[in-house]
Amino acid sequence: MKIGIRWALAAGALCSLSAAAQNVSLTRLDCGNGSNDPRRFTDTFAYTETSKPFTFSCYVVRHGADVMVWDTGYLPGSVPNATNKPLADLLRQVDVKPEEVKFVGISHFHADHTGQLAALKNATLLIGKGDWDGITANPPMAGANAKGFAEWIDEKRKVEPLTGDKDVFNDGSVMILRAPGHTPGHSLLLVRLKETGPVLLSGDAVHFRENYLMEGVPGFNVDRAQTIASIQRMKQIEKNLNATVIIQHDPRDIGKLPAFPAAAK
Ligand SMILES: [Zn+2]
Repeated sequence: MKIGIRWALAAGALCSLSAAAQNVSLTRLDCGNGSNDPRRFTDTFAYTETSKPFTFSCYVVRHGADVMVWDTGYLPGSVPNATNKPLADLLRQVDVKPEEVKFVGISHFHADHTGQLAALKNATLLIGKGDWDGITANPPMAGANAKGFAEWIDEKRKVEPLTGDKDVFNDGSVMILRAPGHTPGHSLLLVRLKETGPVLLSGDAVHFRENYLMEGVPGFNVDRAQTIASIQRMKQIEKNLNATVIIQHDPRDIGKLPAFPAAAK
């Protein structure tokens, strides 16, 4: 009897995950392009080249009728690497009204991930507590783009500072995973898709493929040991789930998802 109930519960849990996953999709938005000096991204002098292409990626996750945005790029016009296509326009091209976005998840508080939050005025902000504390500190922590969060602070918009992992839709299909080191509250995003399989978005846990493979640490990260632990967490997830890892700043990973406006399902 007991075993029977357990089986029934297990089957129910699996059904609910697969049913939910059928309605989940992931779209990459181009939030800017440019280059960076890779020597800034190693504290062990691993690189001698002086320029590496960098891309700036934002993502739309659809879960049934709900929409989540992951990272928002630079504010258009703020730096040469910024996009000239506002996030709100890109969202409209995939039939998403910015004010209808339910959640905005942020990998971390740097300006190239948080420049276009303002338009998502009804979204609940999901962010690691360590980063939220850095944004709201007086003065804000070094590197925290506090200006990007002004509306959340001034208008008292909804914020959920995360102290651990967050199962966004409570069915395992979309999970924000704690991966500190680059910043105190840095996070990854795991999206489990029915056809594509699990996809793990890096945030800035690593910035390009070589640092993922070699466990390289930028000198400006807040915690070296945490950075390496977070990279190791990514690698274990990649292996255990047979997940596709997408390094958000690495243009070589763009082709792992269908080209905009198509969505991975
Ligand atoms: Zn960063």
